[in-house]
Amino acid sequence: MTPRVRFAPSPTGFISLGNVRTALFNWIFARHEGGKFFLRIEDTDKERSKKEYEKSILEGLAWLGLQWDEEIVRQSERTDIYEKYLHRLIDENKAYFCFCSAEELEAERQAQLSQGLQPKYGGRCRSIPKGEAAERAERESYVIRFKMPSHEVAFTDLVRGKVVFNLDLIGDVIIAKGLREPLYNFAVVVDDEEMQITHVIRGEDHISNTPKQIAIQEVLGFKTPIYAHLPLILGPDKKKLSKRYLDASLKDFKERGYLPEAMLNFLVLLGWHPTVDKEIVSMEETVKDFTFRKVQKSGAVFNQEKLEWLNAYYLKNLPIETLAERIRPFVPEEWTKDAKKFREVVDLEKERLRHLPDLKELAGFFFELSDYQPSLLIWKNSPKPVIVDNLSFIANVIRGIPNHELWSKDIVERYIMSVASEKGRGEVLWPLRVALSGKDASPGPVEILYVLGKEESLKRIGKALEKLDALQ
Ligand code: GLU
Repeated sequence: MTPRVRFAPSPTGFISLGNVRTALFNWIFARHEGGKFFLRIEDTDKERSKKEYEKSILEGLAWLGLQWDEEIVRQSERTDIYEKYLHRLIDENKAYFCFCSAEELEAERQAQLSQGLQPKYGGRCRSIPKGEAAERAERESYVIRFKMPSHEVAFTDLVRGKVVFNLDLIGDVIIAKGLREPLYNFAVVVDDEEMQITHVIRGEDHISNTPKQIAIQEVLGFKTPIYAHLPLILGPDKKKLSKRYLDASLKDFKERGYLPEAMLNFLVLLGWHPTVDKEIVSMEETVKDFTFRKVQKSGAVFNQEKLEWLNAYYLKNLPIETLAERIRPFVPEEWTKDAKKFREVVDLEKERLRHLPDLKELAGFFFELSDYQPSLLIWKNSPKPVIVDNLSFIANVIRGIPNHELWSKDIVERYIMSVASEKGRGEVLWPLRVALSGKDASPGPVEILYVLGKEESLKRIGKALEKLDALQ
């Protein structure tokens, strides 16, 4: 059967990196197998689920290009289906109404703990006759518990191998807060069956839910999907990743100017290794190369430096048009009006970019020269008159560069470099670069001259000469 997988986030917060990694592995596996990748929004928790969070999930997936197949499934729209199965379980004596109060349950828990026992529900309401329980349920508040069988459950996880759980340790779990209020473990089982999910790929934090879900499947006569639990994401100290990172939302990374290409590359290496060991992997290659045999069991370490490195790498290697497009939302609109100039600026600065918004800091001078100290124009200990002479000379040379059509990088370079080699590189190129940029670090003067054009460059050199004039 063609594999069918699902990403099943709960919209109770902005989509986190841990969740995105789960989505990514499901998507890759589906694409690798020529299967289907479904998106199921697990919004049964009415209080905590928010449309805003669902939106962040959809936007996050779209940003990364993880397109899902077919319609989105929303659990909040499937209450009738869950209710039908809840009735069935109750009718068949596989589940029951429980009326125990929070205080009673807590007292039971404490008693078990004090005897050194692992707490589990003692089953007090199991024996209430069905008719009586149904009647009480009309008046009293209740939950619905699943009669947990007491045998062992074993499954072969594609990452962890054989996993065995003793259901007896679990006890009768709550599967619904009401007939129309199913809880996670139950709704998942119903949906995985109805959606004919073949593989459940999710984080290892869910592994203890798996035996509960298998037990419910068995009782309902459902097929058990194949499971793959992805390794935990660990912090650099190999301990559980701090909430700061784990819950850091994809949105934060997007807003801080990380590229989706870098995020995907980074996330796929959080637990998976390509056959040929390397750091840069495209999604295309990964889809071809993917196998669960190369997913590690041990925790995957979140290495921020690696993310930074990958981001800088992808920034440098994106086609310039694409990079300019990506940077556009992070810079003032006027900068992008002259698209050709903007692209040239991006091209000149891309080696220095670590994140998309960096351009704003780096390249402002191309669009507007900020004020700077006149003394910055002086190269080392050169006397001021030498600098003034050189800048005036260079201004004349620029004026003399034939006409605008000839204003190419090569021509500009040829003119400027011949002056520089005659009069001293530092003494010419430094003040020229400062005059054009107003900064002590920037791309070289020839590149800036070329982007600014003849008129603007001459204006800036004129301004530098005025500044020098005023310098004591
Ligand atoms: N809704 C669950 C979560 O957000 C996922 C459940 C699953 O994948 O089975 O973690």
